[in-house]
Amino acid sequence: MDCPFCGKEMQQGILSGDGRSNVTWKQGSKRSGALERMIGVGKVTAAKLTLTSFTIDAAYCPDCKKMIFDTDISN
Ligand SMILES: [Zn+2]
Repeated sequence: MDCPFCGKEMQQGILSGDGRSNVTWKQGSKRSGALERMIGVGKVTAAKLTLTSFTIDAAYCPDCKKMIFDTDISN
């Protein structure tokens, strides 16, 4: 896809990390609590969990230093 900020072609890649709990998102400056992560409130549906890691398919623009991925947040 083209970067919506500068219009250049973005690099397609995979975000990954520790897979022990749901990957969550919460509005504001406070992160999700342990219970919220466990029961999946604010779960980032784009994250694919395995036993040891999570991955998210994401596009990256090295010029703007931004990443974009499609996801939903479960409530
Ligand atoms: Zn850009």
